[in-house]
Amino acid sequence: MTRIHNFSAGPAALPEEVLKQAQEELLDWHGSGCSVMEMSHRGKEFTSIIEQAEADLRELMGIPEQYKVLFLQGGATQQFAQIPMNLLAGRSADYIVTGSWSKKAFKEAQRIGNVRCAATTEASNFTRLPVAEEIKLDPFAAYLHVCTNETIHGVEIPAERIADTGVPLVADMSSHILSRPVPVEKFGLIYAGAQKNIGPSGVTLVIIHRDLLGMAPLTIPTVMDYAVMAENGSMLNTPPTYGIYIAGLVFQWLKRQGGLEGMARINAEKARILYACIDQSGGFYRNPVDADCRSAMNVPFVLANPDLDAKFLAESKAAGLASLKGHKSVGGMRASIYNAVSLESVQALVAFMNEFAKRNG
Ligand SMILES: *Cc1c(COP(=O)(O)O)cnc(C)c1O
Repeated sequence: MTRIHNFSAGPAALPEEVLKQAQEELLDWHGSGCSVMEMSHRGKEFTSIIEQAEADLRELMGIPEQYKVLFLQGGATQQFAQIPMNLLAGRSADYIVTGSWSKKAFKEAQRIGNVRCAATTEASNFTRLPVAEEIKLDPFAAYLHVCTNETIHGVEIPAERIADTGVPLVADMSSHILSRPVPVEKFGLIYAGAQKNIGPSGVTLVIIHRDLLGMAPLTIPTVMDYAVMAENGSMLNTPPTYGIYIAGLVFQWLKRQGGLEGMARINAEKARILYACIDQSGGFYRNPVDADCRSAMNVPFVLANPDLDAKFLAESKAAGLASLKGHKSVGGMRASIYNAVSLESVQALVAFMNEFAKRNG
């Protein structure tokens, strides 16, 4: 068996240790005589799995007690609607648009209620963050929405740029949650689809301050109401049990990597060598994002000569380097180097890129 170096943007690589553990436990989880997929979500076995997953996540992220952790379904895309459904409460909300995903979130929220764009960098092709003077905040907004890592454009908001604006901050962290420490207390709500950096698709993580619970109008569907989900421990109905179990194994793996500090050190090194390769290629490769907001998780790059794109993709694939094609909206290439993508995989990519540039430059 040979496993590829997997640079997929999502669903993405999972730690091999986690997959092996899941394989070992597949038919008989801890002497229960059945798979996690086959057990009641209300039984004591699954209760212990979800409770352990939540406890490990709280420890990893340092989630304060006044926040609820929800394991939901519907993906980050469902949150684009669920957030305004729950939090607008007849008011308006602000959106900062820094790439395709925050643009989608803004557009979806327009279907639900009154929202404003407080700043957008679309005119700069989403290659930078807005500066303070460009951001026009409504001090009475129900919340301010940001995407802290734009998966397609490769723009990440550094933790130190997260400022208190006086209104609850809502963040889509789908593609970089758990990649480094996060000051959870600065946020009202954090959400993430699992399939980038948490586990398999089908689980959506929501971390919500309890002050934001119970604001939803009674006209929204019960399953969409955060307060109801929180009261029921994410089990109003059947939760995505197997995905939660795998996410729990990933949390334990992260603890073995030295938690989020340990993971952040490895991720910083991975990003450093990949951006250095691009920047030192003499223009053969180029990443268009401002240096102060380049993503450590999603690294888009273009070849100066796009006629070489197909050759790059074919030869990289033959070398075991998979899923490097850029998103169709931006073209070129993209290497997603999430937690489960090892330093060795990024080193293999860099070696290939250097060699390819030498041969074709
Ligand atoms: C992938 C992604 C989404 C969409 O996630 P789904 O779970 O497919 O709905 C939203 N936001 C960001 C930042 C993403 O990376």
